[in-house]
Amino acid sequence: MIPRFKFRLKEAAADVDEKIYRRFPVHKQAFATVGLEDTGQLGITYALEKMWENMAGKMFGGVPGHSRFDHALDMGANAMNLLLGAYGYPNSQFLKWDPLFVPEFLHGNKVEADAARLTAQVKEAARLYGSDLTGIAHLDKKWVYSEDLFKPFIFTAEGPPRETEEGFLIPESVNKAVVLAVAMPPDLSAASPGVPASTAASLGYSRMGILAVSLAEYIRSLGYTAVPCMNDTALSIPLAVEAGLGELGRHGLLITPEYGPCVRLCKVLTDMPLLPDRPYNFGITDFCRQCLLCAVNCPPQAISYNEPSYHGACVNNNPGVRKWFIDATSCLRFWQKNGTSCANCIASCPFYYGFVSSQCLECVRCDTTDGCALQYITHLRLKYGYLTQKLWGTRPAWTPQVRTGL
Ligand code: SF4
Ligand code: SF4
Repeated sequence: MIPRFKFRLKEAAADVDEKIYRRFPVHKQAFATVGLEDTGQLGITYALEKMWENMAGKMFGGVPGHSRFDHALDMGANAMNLLLGAYGYPNSQFLKWDPLFVPEFLHGNKVEADAARLTAQVKEAARLYGSDLTGIAHLDKKWVYSEDLFKPFIFTAEGPPRETEEGFLIPESVNKAVVLAVAMPPDLSAASPGVPASTAASLGYSRMGILAVSLAEYIRSLGYTAVPCMNDTALSIPLAVEAGLGELGRHGLLITPEYGPCVRLCKVLTDMPLLPDRPYNFGITDFCRQCLLCAVNCPPQAISYNEPSYHGACVNNNPGVRKWFIDATSCLRFWQKNGTSCANCIASCPFYYGFVSSQCLECVRCDTTDGCALQYITHLRLKYGYLTQKLWGTRPAWTPQVRTGL
C-alpha cells in the first residue's frame, strides 16, 4: 500500500445526520426492490431474470462485446463466487459464522500475542490469501444492516455470533472489521458496458469469497471469532473508509489511491483485539466536486451532477449521510436492458488510470488552488509501483496486482 502518512487524517469517515440516519435493511436494496416489482418475489437474484432475457437476445444477435465466448469467460470467473458465498448471504454456504474445519482445541484456545502482533499477522495472512489492500475498522453499528431479506441483525451482550429464528445475533464483543479490497483487472473493466466488465466483477467476487472464507478460518484457528462477509451483514464502503483504504466518489464507489475505483470489497468481523486504522483525506472526494466524468458517462444518468446531500435520490437510498446518492433503480434497470452489468462509472473515473494532462480539460468545474489530488496520487502510484508510465502525456499502464497466493 502507499504509506498513509503521505496523506492527511480525516476527522470522521462520514458526515452523518444522526437525526435522519437509520440502519439500512437489505430488502431496500435495488436488487430486492426491482426483483420484487418484476416477479412479486423478494430475493436478490429475481432482478436478474430480465437481464438474462436481454443477455440471450444480444448474444445470439451477434452484438459485439456480448459473444458466447465473452459470457463463457464470465461464467467461469463467477464459479467460485457462486460456490462459496453467492455475493453474500449471512451465515450461508461457506460464509458460515461457525468454524468450517478448525478443530475445537484451536478455536477454543486463544493465541498469546499482543494487539500489534495480531494486527500485523492478520494483515500478512490477508495479503497471502489475495487481499490487495487491507485495513482495520472499528465496527460502527450504524454500518451493520438493520435487517437481511427476512430477519433482523441484533446485537447481543454475549454468546457467539449465531442465527436463530429471531434473527442474526452479533455479540458486542465482535467490534472490529478487517476490510479487504481486491483489485479487478482494469483492461476488462474498460470494456464496459460489454460483458468483459462483468467478468472483472465476477473475478473480484470469486476472489472475495476465497479471501473472506480463508481469513475467517485463520482467525478462528487463533482462537477468535470470525464472521466472513461479502456484500452481506454490513455496508462495505463506509467500513473501508473507516479503515483508511480510500474515499467515497461521486459514483457512490470507494476510490483507493492504489487502484482507483477498480476494486471490490469484503470484510471479516471479529472479536480479535486488532489495532484500528484511521480514515484519511486523500483529496478524492474534493476532486469529485470538480469532475463529472462518471455522471456524464452513465448511460441512464443515475449519478448526481449536484452538490452532496443528506437526502436520497430513490427508494434504494438511505438518507442521513452527506454524499452523492445514486439512483440505484435506474442503474439496475439499465443493467437489465444491457443484458449484463455496467461499469462505465468505474472505467470513466480518472482515478482508474491516473492523471493525463488532457483530463484538465475534462475536469469541467476545476477551481482548485490547493494542488490536484489526481496528480499527487498519480505521482505516488508511479513511485510505489502501482502504475508504469513510459511517456508523459500517454495514458499510464497499470502494473500487475501485487497479490500473491490465492
Ligand atoms: S454502473 Fe453504469 S448505470 Fe450504474 S451508475 Fe455506474 S455508469 Fe451508471
Ligand atoms: S469520475 Fe470524477 S466525479 Fe466521478 S467518481 Fe471519478 S473523480 Fe469523482
